[in-house]
Amino acid sequence: MASNPSDAVRPIVPCTLILGTGGTIAGNAGSAHDNVGYRSAERTAQELVAAVPGLQGLPLEAVQLFQTDSKDITHAHWWQLREALRHALARPDVGGVVVTHGTDTLEETAYWLHRTLHADKPVVLTAAMRPATSLQADGPQNLLDAVTLARQAGACGVLAVLAGRVHAGHELRKVRAYRVDAFSSADEGPLALLEEGQVRQLRAWPAPADALAVLDDMAEPAQWPWVEVVHSHGGASGRAVEALLSAGVDGLVVAATGNGTVHQSLLAALRLAEQRGVPVLRATRCVLGGLVDDGAWPPAVRALTPAQARVELVCRLLGSAGPAQWR
Ligand code: ASP
Repeated sequence: MASNPSDAVRPIVPCTLILGTGGTIAGNAGSAHDNVGYRSAERTAQELVAAVPGLQGLPLEAVQLFQTDSKDITHAHWWQLREALRHALARPDVGGVVVTHGTDTLEETAYWLHRTLHADKPVVLTAAMRPATSLQADGPQNLLDAVTLARQAGACGVLAVLAGRVHAGHELRKVRAYRVDAFSSADEGPLALLEEGQVRQLRAWPAPADALAVLDDMAEPAQWPWVEVVHSHGGASGRAVEALLSAGVDGLVVAATGNGTVHQSLLAALRLAEQRGVPVLRATRCVLGGLVDDGAWPPAVRALTPAQARVELVCRLLGSAGPAQWR
């Protein structure tokens, strides 16, 4: 059949890839009134798309990458997601990617992707605080907003959209356990707002980070660096750190009080860890973060949550040792 001559000049309409990974957004409860006793991670990405009228007819490709409650996310899941995104971003026909995910560890996945991917197209994470069966289901609107953002000209970087607010992946933090409006960018404030299908940009999109290029040539690490978070609190001691050192921990994050203060008993044990070659990072346990670095030891991460600081230290260890140590 003769091809239409105008086909040759018609620009490719980039498609949005939707990667399903589970979470409450894909969850089902026995009743529309039940917002806590539901089963997470049951609906597929294709089913989530089919439930949103505003997505029908758009150039979308929905793929179920894995299906998990994000409280159970593993390093292997993170690896799989990074690989899928790396390949998706390299596709000329993909304009942006949406990842549906659970809310519990969304800030960690977002930080992992920010730290390890060169996202020169938008990679938009979204989630929901209510299962798909709920009277208050927030997933359909969040998914619609995520696709809108992934199709936004000029947007780039690892982003998250929830409850009408767009956060940079490295600034995202879950600050509420139950309320629908559960996420914050702490001191920085949102990057943009989603209003009636329009993106109102407030700050510049994050520049695509220098990805950890060393990971590109690696198979999934056979052994990931073992990094734990220890908390500073009233009555703290060094015993947990001593036990972790005996068990062979590779790195430690201290979730410090206030502006990065650490109980003296715990601090002594952390110094011992450093002397034994185990690196230590310091983050604040304050929910809205924003630590001002006082230059004290251990080195501080300014705006990361302790869970994100743990990902940061895993990345530093993977990057500094290179593939040899973890293969
Ligand atoms: N436990 C769920 C998850 O993280 C919670 C949620 O998605 O809101 O997968």
